[in-house]
Amino acid sequence: MRNQAAEIRDARPAPAKRTGNAGSQSCPGCNSGDVSRVGAIPDAFEFAGTALDSPLPGGSLYRCKVCGLHWRHPQPDKCELDALYRKGSASSWQYHPVKRRDWQIASAIIRKHGDVATVLDVGCFDGRFLDHLGGGYRRSGIEVHPLAAEHAAAKGIEIVGRDFSDLDTLHPPFDVVVAMDVIEHVGNPRTFLASLARATRPGGLIILSTGNTATTPWRLMGGMYWYCSIAEHISFINPRWCEHAAAELRLSIEDLVMFSHEPAKATEAFIQAAANLFYRCLPNLAYTLRRFHALSQGKACRPACRTPPHWRSARDHLLVAFRVPAGDPRERVGQSAAESPHRAIGPIS
Ligand SMILES: [Zn+2]
Repeated sequence: MRNQAAEIRDARPAPAKRTGNAGSQSCPGCNSGDVSRVGAIPDAFEFAGTALDSPLPGGSLYRCKVCGLHWRHPQPDKCELDALYRKGSASSWQYHPVKRRDWQIASAIIRKHGDVATVLDVGCFDGRFLDHLGGGYRRSGIEVHPLAAEHAAAKGIEIVGRDFSDLDTLHPPFDVVVAMDVIEHVGNPRTFLASLARATRPGGLIILSTGNTATTPWRLMGGMYWYCSIAEHISFINPRWCEHAAAELRLSIEDLVMFSHEPAKATEAFIQAAANLFYRCLPNLAYTLRRFHALSQGKACRPACRTPPHWRSARDHLLVAFRVPAGDPRERVGQSAAESPHRAIGPIS
């Protein structure tokens, strides 16, 4: 993901009364103090595909009992995150459309609606999703990475913003706004969803995809789950959070689809599950075995071998489509149309 993902972190509400068994923690989304600690997250040795000079402390995974949000604490502050994203490898964000099940599901949802003329991809990177979606739409993107934005523009994508703060200034709003594999990089998902709603026309759609904490593999692994051990991932949602956020923002959920990040054959899926459960029970022994395996192959054992094995075959992702009801969505998220400093949509110079 792009460092624009961190921009929204400053918009979180002021802390409320903090109680419960999680020390001084309160939910970054709903501000409830009724939270619990799920478990420790392993330290990270890479960030956005680049090896770190020193490990990034994993901290702990927390869960809000009110809205269902999960989040990492502590998190690097915005300056640290921006610096880490700048050092990141762009190749770590590139995927082929065939491997992106969420792109396929989102495209099918968009194409089945005949009233869609404009689509905005928040965090569009080099425009691959919009390119995959095809022509027939006015396609726009928000992207902070200058070179990626150039590539997107070369594909006919109109770059209308550089970071999330631009969502509140776009006018007219879009028929569909998508943000895939973005919300897990954001410090306050509720505030982010509210911004997406303001950029969506009345009756339009917001489509998100990300990991889903309400899955058996994640519950088994807790803070040691592969998805939350990725250092760039700081917030995690689930269907319960979607319902809570939709009710607060007066959105409705039109589609909610569970899918696997990388479907695999039964044998490979079994190996991934077994490797994770072994790591869950005996992480030090798992590291030792990895180290011996690397040595037997004549390779150096990287510090990253201490991190959890991936479990990409697990059906641990969700895609949700929120419908913005008729009426002015800006009024629903606490900002009237008269107050909103909209500007006409046009390319960023
Ligand atoms: Zn909450």
